Amino acid sequence: MNKTTRCSLHRFLPAFALLASGLAMAPPAKAAQPHEHMHDGPTVLRAARMLDVDAGQIRENAVIVVENGLITAVNPPGTPAGAHEMDLGDVTLLPGLVDAHTHLAGQLGAGSFTDAVTRTELYGAFNAAKYGGITLRAGFTTVRDFGGDVTVELAEAVERGDVAAPRVIPSRHPLGITGGHCDVTGFAPGILEAGPERGVADGPWEVVEAVRYQIKHGAQVIKTCATAGVLSMEGPVGAQQYTEEELAAMVAEAARHGVKVAAHAHGSEGILAAVRAGVASIEHGSALTDEIMDLMIEKGVYLVPTTYLVDRIPLDDLPPLVRRKAEEVLPMARESVQKAISRGVPIAFGTDAGVFPHGENAGEFEVYVSMGMSEAEAVRTATVHAADLLGVSDRGRLADGLLADVIAVPGNPLNDISVLRDVRFVMLGGRVFKHVVGGRDMHSMRDAGP
Ligand SMILES: [Zn+2]
Repeated sequence: MNKTTRCSLHRFLPAFALLASGLAMAPPAKAAQPHEHMHDGPTVLRAARMLDVDAGQIRENAVIVVENGLITAVNPPGTPAGAHEMDLGDVTLLPGLVDAHTHLAGQLGAGSFTDAVTRTELYGAFNAAKYGGITLRAGFTTVRDFGGDVTVELAEAVERGDVAAPRVIPSRHPLGITGGHCDVTGFAPGILEAGPERGVADGPWEVVEAVRYQIKHGAQVIKTCATAGVLSMEGPVGAQQYTEEELAAMVAEAARHGVKVAAHAHGSEGILAAVRAGVASIEHGSALTDEIMDLMIEKGVYLVPTTYLVDRIPLDDLPPLVRRKAEEVLPMARESVQKAISRGVPIAFGTDAGVFPHGENAGEFEVYVSMGMSEAEAVRTATVHAADLLGVSDRGRLADGLLADVIAVPGNPLNDISVLRDVRFVMLGGRVFKHVVGGRDMHSMRDAGP
């Protein structure tokens, strides 16, 4: 039995929930991993600059000591004897970036709308391994991913060190109403019907059951479709789908497990219901009103804009109904993000990667800055703010005791945010996955040292 995963904007990306067997991810031999770069003892990273994200300031002559996967010192008076030294030269160090909205199990294209009935879940597993690697090498060391069992397994594979991909906060199956954006729509009765186990749930008690089931099987966040969406065959894109009562039941049950709720929402009524019900983030938020934005500020609800995709969604690949919806809602969505930035709504970086090519995630920064956000604040959306939304205090800044997730870019991102598209070095948990020297990635060779 074969199901597709329901995802926020593009329901039809096959997302392959049946990977639980781990068939496609048998642990690879260590020798097959060219990025393997563990050195015994501490590593000292040196660079011309580092960005203090909290202060929004560049510090010259950065020194970061890493040991056992953690940052153990930043600019200490001395460095440990016998450490493995890596001098990265004329670059700026930053904490690894966080994308709070990805779909690593798929990539939108002309075939996506039939993948649900023509491909198996394992297709998504291979996709996730490939796109996870691309995303990590683009400087994103953590993602919150909406992609069924595939990215639940990916999260664990990354923690085991078996796969080169970002750390993953997975949702398993998004929750939605029967026939809604998070259900499978567009096929004849009997094809890909689903219930609470696959996230399709109606009424508060079924919603509670669906939350419990996702968490039982690895969800670390609950994703829901509060309104209709673009990349699915159901009705008006902004229409409210869950009632406030259903959303409140979902938030309350998730909270009992210490889990937050992320709500895909385009139309004003659905956004307002989700914010009132207590969700942690609004994904897309295409029709924000002053009333909604003030309530989001008051309650500390994040907007996850996903707005770079407006320029990059492959419109020609979409069926006519879906294309019409995209052309209607996307310009509105961009205006809405602009208003949110001006008004000071909390923003956490998120892209919907998969709707546009994985690896271009950093394009989202340029949109925020073009809308008047400062470069320093733009970096905070993908570091301290995103970490706050994800509920992880062990990353998002360069400080001792935090995870050794460190990247480097040329130049100074506070002068030119586009340098974040040109990541030259990626370390995750103390392991180096990318190191470009003179235009050549040295990560498959030994760097220096022992
Ligand atoms: Zn999405």
